[in-house]
Amino acid sequence: MVNTAVILAGGMGTRLHERTKNKPKGFLEIDNKPIVEESILKLLEIGIEQIVIGTGYLAEVYDHLAMRYPQVLCVRNNDYMKTGSMYTLYNLRERVSDDFLLLESDLIYEKQALEELIKLKESDVILASQFTNSNDEVFIETDENHLLVNLSKNRNDLNHIHAELTGITKISVHTLQILCDFAKSSFSENPQLDYESALAGISKQVNIYVHKLNNFVWCEIDNEQHLLRAVNYIYPMIKLKEKNFPFVKRNILLNPGPATTTDTVKYAQVVPDICPREEEFGDVMQMISTKLTALVANSNNYSTVLFGGSGTAAVESILSSVISEDAVLIINNGAYGKRMCQIADAYKLNYIEFQSSPYEALDLVSLEDIISSSKFSHLCIVHNETTTGLLNDISLVGHLCEKYQIQLIVDAMSSYGAIPIDLDSMNISYLAASSNKNLQGMAGVAFVIARTKDLETTQHLHPRNFYLHLYSQYKYFSKTKQMRFTPPVQTLYALKQAIIETRLEGVEKRYKRYTEAWETLIKGITRLGLKHLVKKENHSRIITAIVEPTIPNYDFEDMHKYFYRNGFTIYPGKLDGQNTFRVANIGAITNMDMNLFIKLLEQYLINIGYCTEGNEMNGISKT
Ligand SMILES: *Cc1c(COP(=O)(O)O)cnc(C)c1O
Repeated sequence: MVNTAVILAGGMGTRLHERTKNKPKGFLEIDNKPIVEESILKLLEIGIEQIVIGTGYLAEVYDHLAMRYPQVLCVRNNDYMKTGSMYTLYNLRERVSDDFLLLESDLIYEKQALEELIKLKESDVILASQFTNSNDEVFIETDENHLLVNLSKNRNDLNHIHAELTGITKISVHTLQILCDFAKSSFSENPQLDYESALAGISKQVNIYVHKLNNFVWCEIDNEQHLLRAVNYIYPMIKLKEKNFPFVKRNILLNPGPATTTDTVKYAQVVPDICPREEEFGDVMQMISTKLTALVANSNNYSTVLFGGSGTAAVESILSSVISEDAVLIINNGAYGKRMCQIADAYKLNYIEFQSSPYEALDLVSLEDIISSSKFSHLCIVHNETTTGLLNDISLVGHLCEKYQIQLIVDAMSSYGAIPIDLDSMNISYLAASSNKNLQGMAGVAFVIARTKDLETTQHLHPRNFYLHLYSQYKYFSKTKQMRFTPPVQTLYALKQAIIETRLEGVEKRYKRYTEAWETLIKGITRLGLKHLVKKENHSRIITAIVEPTIPNYDFEDMHKYFYRNGFTIYPGKLDGQNTFRVANIGAITNMDMNLFIKLLEQYLINIGYCTEGNEMNGISKT
């Protein structure tokens, strides 16, 4: 049984500049804990009894830490500036009398890996992983028995690359001796020798087994980019994996939200119970609110107001909170524009409906005619009309509003998080969106992003509503970091993780991924003889209304059931006077999922006799 560990912590971490000016790399903090301390705790949890830390740069910081852990012994390498990690190890060799685990100080990793490494019967093992593409990898070449042949940062130095080095190794006390002998003879020539190269150097003398763990979540933190990845992505993943959650079946939701989520988002909901009035939870909501603003606006000018509710709550909150007796213009070119009219009816707003085709781009000339003919305080529009996938040009409408001093209200429910939006340059006063569409979070949080100075002016209006009162919710949150009434606690934890993942992927890249899936969809349905309604240049590329086959065997409910059995969900149409069904391409899905969808659709259409193998149409009219 291995009960000793060695942590190599002599280096200066120069690539992290300011961050390592006053503390060694191992003291970078994630979740308010130094990463090396997290590592120490993991080692102690798996039964390690003695930890020797090879220190050097700012060694006193480690000495201080050691005072809190009687199991930790620090051995200082005074020549850390002129030597490498092998010398730090060599320098502490006499303190190690047993087989041991060797770790670098700047790692974060899953604990399970240590347990697995200890259990292996081989006594000298390099723990390796799948490729991380971190831009700082050490690649490993092995022979057919998975024994180390060589390793290098340069792929071209190696013949057959098997895996990537993680910085976690198991070494027998016997091999340590060989390693030190090898090192001693190399130091005069290469004092900077690192321990990995020394391992490669003795690989002809000693069998060093390379154990590759697939799906091993870990990272080393050597530069700013690594740190960002660690904080936002790797660390949350490790936390989730360490909870040992069971497998969840993956369904592909091609309905326009709630969308398919990642497992990390699903599991982010499993947290200790917490009263949402605790400061800790206030911080979670504060982070969510700030980051939601930051995705589309400058937080000096805009504020995000959160509500528990479906997306419609956000739209309703705006319409019922910010409009006084003045006239409002509502653009209706689909079911969601119509919904805004229904809300306006319910609150008896003084509004005019501007109807426009659900397939064609807005006619801005007649829109301006109406706008200029009477005085409107607000204009409401849907960004991506989810009925058909028609994308309204918000920039142009925003400029019109600027010209006529009208505040613009945008329902961006199905565009936010994918289609780039800039509230300021688009002149948007209020934007409504929700947690469960392109953000890829769970359903239950609606939010409004408001131009703060516009929102401030609404405080004097006589309230028409209570729960959804935008200004009250905003004011209360800015004072207390709390919602006025019980928030959906676990949904917000999922939203926090979903935002982390959105920022990690980036809105632009997310839209690119969605667009690829959309192109696969359009190519596929076109090949199968089906038509969609909105032209490419006006299309959001996020949701598509497809004209239903007009043969007697076709039945939407049947088709829906067929897809549902196969793990896919499609959506009925929502258009008056035109029979359509809808396919969205949002969520944690890939182009591969869409390819599979098209294959299934083809099979269904063959089954009902709409087309035949090889995709010939059966002489039946396509529309
Ligand atoms: C999804 C959606 C909504 C909100 O729907 P909820 O069912 O209330 O979440 C509103 N507007 C648009 C454009 C949408 O796509």
